[in-house]
Amino acid sequence: MVEYGIMLKNIINLIKLDPSEEKYKKDISDTQFFGFPIEPLIAAEEKLLDSKTNSIAYFSMEYGLAPSVYHTFKTVNKIKESNVLSEHEVFSNMKDMDYYHYLPLRKIIDLPIYSGGLGVLAGDTLKSAADLGLPLVGIGILWNKGYFKQKFWFRSGGQLPEVMSWDPHSYPGLIPLKPRINITLSGQELELKLWKYYVYSNDLKNVIPLILLDSNLPENQEYFRELTDQLYRSTNGWIKLCQRAILGMGGVKALEALKYPIKKFHLNEGHAALAVAQKAKKQNLEKIKSIFAYTCHTPVEAGHDRFDVQELEATLGNEISQIVKTYGRDEKNSSLINFTQFCLNTTSHINGVAQKHGEIMRLQFPKYKDRIKSITNGIHTHTWISKPFKELFNKHKNQIGDWEADPILLKNVNSLKNNQEFRSGLWQAHLENKKQLAEFLKFWHFNQKTFTIGWARRIAVYKRPTMLLNDPNRLISIAKKLGGLQIVIAGKAHPADIPASLHMDEMLSKITILNGERKILRICFLENYDTYFAKLLTSSVDIWLNNPLPPFEASGTSGMKALVNGVLQLSTLDGWVVEAASKNIGRIFGYVPEAGSIGNEGDLKLNEDSLTLYQNVEELGDLYYKTLVGIQKPENSEWVEMMINCISESGFFSTQRMVKEYSGQVWAT
Ligand SMILES: *Cc1c(COP(=O)(O)O)cnc(C)c1O
Repeated sequence: MVEYGIMLKNIINLIKLDPSEEKYKKDISDTQFFGFPIEPLIAAEEKLLDSKTNSIAYFSMEYGLAPSVYHTFKTVNKIKESNVLSEHEVFSNMKDMDYYHYLPLRKIIDLPIYSGGLGVLAGDTLKSAADLGLPLVGIGILWNKGYFKQKFWFRSGGQLPEVMSWDPHSYPGLIPLKPRINITLSGQELELKLWKYYVYSNDLKNVIPLILLDSNLPENQEYFRELTDQLYRSTNGWIKLCQRAILGMGGVKALEALKYPIKKFHLNEGHAALAVAQKAKKQNLEKIKSIFAYTCHTPVEAGHDRFDVQELEATLGNEISQIVKTYGRDEKNSSLINFTQFCLNTTSHINGVAQKHGEIMRLQFPKYKDRIKSITNGIHTHTWISKPFKELFNKHKNQIGDWEADPILLKNVNSLKNNQEFRSGLWQAHLENKKQLAEFLKFWHFNQKTFTIGWARRIAVYKRPTMLLNDPNRLISIAKKLGGLQIVIAGKAHPADIPASLHMDEMLSKITILNGERKILRICFLENYDTYFAKLLTSSVDIWLNNPLPPFEASGTSGMKALVNGVLQLSTLDGWVVEAASKNIGRIFGYVPEAGSIGNEGDLKLNEDSLTLYQNVEELGDLYYKTLVGIQKPENSEWVEMMINCISESGFFSTQRMVKEYSGQVWAT
């Protein structure tokens, strides 16, 4: 008994849990951590604390970890209702159903510290780093009110942003730490509490700790406490700047307080730029550039943070401001500081997130073109693969190889192209996934057989969310010709992004126009898109639609989730898709900017591109039904052929491949 006590005490000390928080000790023993094995956690902490280890700190404003669909922690403590219940309404062209039914969901909510693809990529990166056993620590922020809660406005059609609430104190696996840190903002001390969330590898043999900073403490002034409430709150420039100071400056201080001797600092997007300035307070920046790496995630202008010089000086103080002013002056407007510019000037590795994005970055930042490289994004295969596909791949492991250890081996499904059992297995696995979607949307009369298109992601203008609904009459005629069409849509528009919100309004009013067509055309827009829905939708529709305006989608990742589940792509030629476009993975359509040009973000080309989109929907729908009714049997079905092509490409578009590249080309040098 006594020995057990000492052992547990050592573990608590090692992970730096706040010992005054008694209830957490019920979920932590000398063998278990919230239902998961504790040994890997001890080994990882010891390795990270060792000064001989080449540890990496990965900074990101957001993390989408999807614990509702992968590695769900268990707890003996009571979980607050707000962490379990999430309400989802549906806006459809079957209005009666919308009034009477909610989506039946009761599960742990996903840790609400992300808004979209950037966060999910960061989460998937940590998971693959764990799978590869890398010595890495994540740094992020505990968003006390998440991103925001989307509420449909049924009367006029549109989105109302509401406050999201959840309880960090009863979220399984999230633990409060003992050390606290301070940073100075606008001349005042801000105290930050630290939290930790362990990200386990797929085989449960390794972990990555994720440290989350939190300003919501009674010791802080009210306006400071609110700094970590809402992700990407953009009420004013001061809040934006303070949120970045917490991540960058606070993050570096947190790593010091936790005694991790970090050798490389990776900035996932420029939000974390102030980490560089914080490090440069103690060392000459020119001499330490080699320890910083930077990944840029967007060619969209609005995606680059700019701050007023005077506000920056007043908020961050003299020392930090001097460093930032020296390296981060906006090239076009010298009264502004540009964080992208700052990162380009202060880091030794600069990466875009797909080959195409690298090219675009070199056009946008010609001064740095020799140093801009690209590493194409990926997804964490184990999180996003559906059960029927996983089982099917395991059944054919002899030919495929140990794809769970290395997803790149999924390219070997190509060798199964003539295997009849595999081909019909694929079609069956897909129908099984579709059955789940049909069950989910049964009140809206969705069924397993009807041809189904999915579109779900952040509602941002360059992603052209309204394109599929551009011509409602054309949709009706396609649905009639094919014999049925289902469309499922989801996504949130950032509350301050007015143009995006207008697109959202337009989508909902177009759906309203289609009222009364449900016998042939069913459209559902799901409220509050999240990683749970992302997994459901990317694995269960027939076609994943991706129609950003090239070249503004740096990479995109939701289509990669669809790939591994044999869901065909209907996409414009942008981001990651450029690298797989020749592989017959569906249909590629639409406008392509001239080589060497960046094009015009404001010219959406909706009319031209929707025409080719509709043509392709018709052709693909035709192929789908041919396989469904047996005109084309799985053994000679063009559809199944394309499914196989998707899966064989999916191994490359995994974060396992991506993290290996970062590790070899960026972190090791
Ligand atoms: C994967 C994912 C995204 C990214 O979608 P893109 O198509 O890359 O824009 C956004 N949101 C959620 C919840 C996701 O899971």
